[in-house]
Amino acid sequence: MTRHPKKNYMMMKGSSINCSTTFDSIPNELISEVLSRVAASSLTDMFNAKLSCKILNEIAEEKQVYQRVSLDKFPIVPWKPLNEKQQAFLNKCQQSENPDFMYRQAVLDYFNKTDLRSACQHLEKAVKLGHIGSQYLTCIILLLCGDDELIKASIKILSDFRKSKFTKRILKLCRKKLIRILRQMWVKNYLLIQPPTFCSTPNQHQWKSQWSEDDDNIKCEACIADREIRIISSTYNYYL
Ligand SMILES: [Zn+2]
Repeated sequence: MTRHPKKNYMMMKGSSINCSTTFDSIPNELISEVLSRVAASSLTDMFNAKLSCKILNEIAEEKQVYQRVSLDKFPIVPWKPLNEKQQAFLNKCQQSENPDFMYRQAVLDYFNKTDLRSACQHLEKAVKLGHIGSQYLTCIILLLCGDDELIKASIKILSDFRKSKFTKRILKLCRKKLIRILRQMWVKNYLLIQPPTFCSTPNQHQWKSQWSEDDDNIKCEACIADREIRIISSTYNYYL
């Protein structure tokens, strides 16, 4: 992207911020990277940055920034129609291939519209972009409707998440995000309402509770998958 000559920004209208001096020595790529990180952690902070200076406002419109913006604060099913600005913002996220946008579409596709094909298309793109929540969601969907091989692979991936404190924390965050979104919508997919069971001998394995999120005693990989599905299955509003 070509930034306008910095002299145009010497003094902002009604503001004493001298953007030219502030950003003169910083390459656009670095500003864009910083803004992308801000956008990834807080949508509000990104908009505040946009309002603070014309240069930031311009760079924040780049595809790279929109690709990483977090949509966590945006309700998945708005209670009232979106205004023009909100709709334009979401459209830009979609055009920029924001993986969080694709993840949310996949959740709606699968759990509300029961459209597996569309969910998989969105997830495939988001996973390729490294969206970890989409990898987790792919495992959950495959556990619910995949063939034996895909179920086996998903059980293994979920089990691997528990191998270190770091990946366990990621698993927990992914689960929390999915549950938060499911609670905002009507789930119409009966597979989550009556989830399958993967372990053939659960009575022989240790389970504190199907809702316990920190049960480290479970060693059986199939039981880990069973518990994961049941935690999610028990925490949403369903509608058939
Ligand atoms: Zn088991």
